[in-house]
Amino acid sequence: MKRIAILALQGAFAEHAAMLNRLGAETHYVRSLSDWLMPKDALVIPGGESTSQLTLLRALDLLQPVRTAILDGLPVFGTCAGLILLARDEDGTPRDGLATLDVDVHRNAYGRQIASFHTIGAVDGVGQDVPMTFIRAPYVNAVRSADVHVLATHEGRITAVRQNRQLATAFHPELTDDTRIHEYFLSFL
Ligand code: GLN
Repeated sequence: MKRIAILALQGAFAEHAAMLNRLGAETHYVRSLSDWLMPKDALVIPGGESTSQLTLLRALDLLQPVRTAILDGLPVFGTCAGLILLARDEDGTPRDGLATLDVDVHRNAYGRQIASFHTIGAVDGVGQDVPMTFIRAPYVNAVRSADVHVLATHEGRITAVRQNRQLATAFHPELTDDTRIHEYFLSFL
């Protein structure tokens, strides 16, 4: 059985756990270094508020161990705030988050919470009709490495990318009934 660690400091972690459990994966929440040290085949970083998650990652001494594990090849799936935490740059400036994913992000790109929206679009390798929920979402301004593959765009902006075993979406597949993006992620393991 695949064991997925889900960062559960803040945000929509329970929805990822529910979806992964539906797909037959075992999940455990990471809220401390001892949780982090449990055996795992992959990590999920949920949506929520990237600034809060980053503050907590640092305070709990999780930032460096998580970063090292991702750089060593641990598969990771970041949604929304998770994408921001993984991103190397933000609007042309290096970020001091995990910075393992060679992209430049633009935060809160679609305006305020009220400007959240739902659409259906194509995700390369997943399907042509994938439901996408955007909540104060970022988009990707630019990819910074030839290893980064653009999987989805919305109105010309990059909204999903893959770099080797790192997957990141600006939208929230865990808030829909469609399990295909999580299945796609589990196929990396
Ligand atoms: N706006 C949030 C941030 O900057 C991300 C929103 C989300 O994860 N739904 O962290």
